[in-house]
Amino acid sequence: MIQFSAVAKRYPGGHEALQDVSCEVQAGELVVVTGPSGAGKSTFLKLASGIERATRGSIVVNGQNLSSLGETALAVLRRNIGFVFQDHKLLFDRCAWDNVALPLRIAGASRDETGRRVRAALDKVGLLGKDRAMPITLSGGEQQRLCIARAIVNRPAVLVADEPTGNLDAAAARAVLDLFVSFNRVGVTVLLSTHDEASAAALGGRHLAIASGRLAAGTP
Ligand code: ADP
Repeated sequence: MIQFSAVAKRYPGGHEALQDVSCEVQAGELVVVTGPSGAGKSTFLKLASGIERATRGSIVVNGQNLSSLGETALAVLRRNIGFVFQDHKLLFDRCAWDNVALPLRIAGASRDETGRRVRAALDKVGLLGKDRAMPITLSGGEQQRLCIARAIVNRPAVLVADEPTGNLDAAAARAVLDLFVSFNRVGVTVLLSTHDEASAAALGGRHLAIASGRLAAGTP
């Protein structure tokens, strides 16, 4: 489903954040990207989901070579990917429901469809009872679960999460990780990064270890 062949990424003015990365993620897999801060995990996830472009090598997602896609085609591809970021990126001037509804409104979904999907997404993350709460009144774990609801409301085939438990205590982190495992069980391909070995171990799945921009030797 996602194939990296000899991929390198250099940011403008920076050093190579990723070097010579080759690997494959199959549909339905749970892949945990591990490594210390600054190793290149976030860069890997952004390249895999078309948020950043590779400097060298090829990335093929669902049979499409990302380097040959224009911005419009990339935007279409990204609609099938849900993102969860460490720093939430919630809109704090609107309630939980409206945060989750936003991607559907942008996609032009009807009122009925939006209502059904938002309710289902909030239910899956255990926040149906807080649908009118403003994000600032939610705990860190609830805010992150709200982000997950927003990421899945379009029912993407792939869920990408960059350090989703980075700012959470152990219990809240566990609840968030369990959600990713449960989405993977129903067929969603999950790519998740963490620098925390305990979280990586708790998740199971296949681990891709990145150090200094390279995949660890022996990574399948
Ligand atoms: P991780 O997610 O493992 O912490 P990142 O992929 O965020 O690692 O970063 C890898 C390297 O690339 C780091 O040295 C970081 O400073 C650099 N980097 C990341 N994003 C940018 C950017 N937008 N511009 C320049 N350098 C960047």
